[in-house]
Order: sequence, then structure tokens, then C-alpha cells
Amino acid sequence: MEFEAVIGMELHVQLKTETKLFCSCRVEFGAPPNKNVCPVCLGMPGVLPVLNKKAVEHALRVAIALNCRINRESLFARKNYFYPDLPKGYQITQYTTPIGWNGWIDVNGKKIRIKRVHLEEESAKTVLEGDYAYIDFNRAGIPLVEIVTEPDLTSPGDAVQFVKTLQTLLRYLGVSDADMEKGQLRCEPNVSVRRRGEEKLGTRREIKNLNSIRSLERGIRYEIDQQIKILSSGGEVERATLLWDEKEEVTRPMRMKEEEEDYRYFPEPDLPPLLLTEDFIKEIRKTMPELPHERKERLIKEGLREYDADILTRDLERGRYYDEVVSLTSDPPETAKWVITELKEKFPPARELAWIINAVKEGKITRNAGKEILKEVIEKGKPAEEIVKEKGMTQVSDEEEIRKLVEQAFEMHPEEKERLFSGERKLVGFFIGEVMKLSGRRANPGVVKRMIEEMLG
Ligand SMILES: [Zn+2]
Repeated sequence: MEFEAVIGMELHVQLKTETKLFCSCRVEFGAPPNKNVCPVCLGMPGVLPVLNKKAVEHALRVAIALNCRINRESLFARKNYFYPDLPKGYQITQYTTPIGWNGWIDVNGKKIRIKRVHLEEESAKTVLEGDYAYIDFNRAGIPLVEIVTEPDLTSPGDAVQFVKTLQTLLRYLGVSDADMEKGQLRCEPNVSVRRRGEEKLGTRREIKNLNSIRSLERGIRYEIDQQIKILSSGGEVERATLLWDEKEEVTRPMRMKEEEEDYRYFPEPDLPPLLLTEDFIKEIRKTMPELPHERKERLIKEGLREYDADILTRDLERGRYYDEVVSLTSDPPETAKWVITELKEKFPPARELAWIINAVKEGKITRNAGKEILKEVIEKGKPAEEIVKEKGMTQVSDEEEIRKLVEQAFEMHPEEKERLFSGERKLVGFFIGEVMKLSGRRANPGVVKRMIEEMLG
């Protein structure tokens, strides 16, 4: 292709804290409108903000996980603009000194540079209904972390992988649920296109209102195509902020801008500089959880296939469940197989699945019986051991007992028996099947096979 896309990304992440960034109002998803408000987050005159320490810890965790340099001293600033969902008429954010800067993250082997990570407050939420716009101030003042990348992404697929990687990371850190549908993670890509080989970046356009991974992918793809069309017909791309129309799957200009808006940033006079002591940073570093890439590497080292390790890394809930079960079975590959292929949404108590896996390995029950038992454990909530006893599903490995069953099978199929004994070895499988049937699927197939082979001499 003659053109190439250059994409940068701005992410806003709602941090998972009990209370808002500068007041003690609760952070709660789905609360009745305007329930969690107070004079501070409503922007009443004369009130003073008090910084939430937990939010600072979360932001610092993000900055550390993104390999950022940390500013030991950072300032809060006022970003002034006039909009109905901004009660104070300004947003408290970090401008000249973000908490973290100059970091990077590895996305499928590609290094994406992180320009900055900073802390700021969320605006209120505008809800459009018919001819009216309603404002819900529950959201005003929720702590956000903003993550800005350098323009290191080159395709819609890249952008999707980047966001998914960050989503997983944020969940591991426990700083956000990062659910795009709930608005806890919002991404605004800026897209430009240039002729291949050209150094200079093209004019970039920002896309807003991308509420899902699917929209993100489609929005960027659409915008790249638009810009290529404009450039190939000799036109010039105009700088703009675009809104993604999810229904029509097109972008529409929200505003065209000739230059950066002037937000008249100035230092927030009501908050002292944020000082992070060496001890505080050390403490946070010490309490960092295992990160996704570390986890994946560990799982592979423990003997899992890359594919399985990947699933148990991306799906945190399943991964944590796996950890619990494997601690009771000490057999990573076998445990991964069960946790990945045999479980849908409902997970039984870890000790029950571990009991089943161990029982199959010890030859107490067959694999198929194990699967059946697992189903019942999930549906009825009964212990696996009890189900096995009740149903008499214990596997038969006793050689004498199995020899009798083989003989019985031979008697039932004399013709096949003769063909088998005159050299038609493929009939071994047929007789294994017959013995399994006779035993009510409880015979140990390995022992059955060995017995038949022994009898053949
Ligand atoms: Zn409040």
C-alpha cells in the first residue's frame, strides 16, 4: 500500500476507589442520579479539595507498570473550559508534571512508548433524552488516570491489541475494572496518514465516543480510509475532532479546530504540590502484583503450552481459579486442560475439581466419568467424592475382574474373536469398546488393552 497510518492513543481510566478524588462522596456504578454529591464535587464557592491517597497509589501503580519515570514532585493544575458537565468551570488535572512520563509497554513484541500518565478528576455525565439533556453529578470528581502514548501504533489491529493489553494490565493491578461498556475505560485514538517513506506526520484527527473494542477497530479503520481517499484525490486533511456514530458506522466532525484550544492552564492554588517520598514509592513497588507478561512467562515455564498460558493470563478470573486448583494437583498441563476446556462460566470449589483431576490420574475413575461428575458437582453442588460413591463410578483396574469381562466379550463375539486371534489386530479396539460397555464404562481402558494383548500372546 502506498499510504501508512500513524496512530496515537489517549486513554481515560476510572480508578477503583471507595470515594472521589477530592471529596468523600462514594464512587458507585449505577447509583440513582445525583445521589453521591456534596458541595466539593458540585463546585460550590469556598470549598476546598482534599486529595484521595488511594487514587495516588493507583496512579503510581499504573505509572510503574508502564515503566514510566516517576515525578517525585508533581503539581495539580486547573484546566479551564466552560461546559455544563463541569460544575467548577475547570477541571483539576496535572499538566506540566504528570505522575509518570517516558514509559513503554510491550504489545505482542512491539514496544509502544508512553508519553505520560497523570491523575485528574472526571466530569459529570450528560444524559440525552428526547429534547432534554440531564446531568448526573455522581460521576463528577471520580478519579481518572489519563494515559497518553506516542504515535507508535500503525493499524486498527495494533490499537485493539494495545487497548486489550492495557485492559488486562489495569485489572491485574486492581486499579480499575476497565469495562469499556460502562465507560470505565475510554479511548480516544488520534489518526493520521502519510505516504510510505515520508518522515513528516500527516494531520491528525481525534476520534471520540468509541465505546467498545469493536467500535475502536471500526472507527480507526473508517478514519484511515477517509484520509487516504482525501489524500489520493489531491485534497488536504483538516484537523478535527470526530465523533463515532455507532449506528451508521461513520465518523462525524464534532468540531474542526484550527489550533489547540486554549485551556488557560494555571497551578491549582487550593492544593499543595504532590510529594512522593522514596519510601512511599518503594512501598508501592513492593506491593505490585504479578503482571500479565510475568504471569504468562511463569505459566509457560511451569509446562503450559503458550496458547493455554495466554488464556489463563487474559482471563484473570479463570487464571486465579487455575492457580487454586493447580496448588492441589501439582500437575499444570492436566489442570489447564480441565480448567480451559471443561468449565464454562460456573467454577466449582477448587478442591472439588482438584479431587476429580487427581482421581483420574490415580486411575480411580475414568476421564469420561470425571467429566460427568464435574457436571454434577457444578449443577448440584455436591462433593465429587460423594457422587462417585453414590453412582458406583469407581474405575475398575482389577486384572482378574477385567480378564473375566474380556472373556465374556469373546464369548459374545466368536467370529470377531477368531479373526482377532488369526492376526486381525485392529479388532483390539473393537473388544476394548465391548469390555467398556460391559463394565458400564468403568473399566480402565489401559488395563483392558493390556489384558487383551496378553491373552493374544
Ligand atoms: Zn463530593
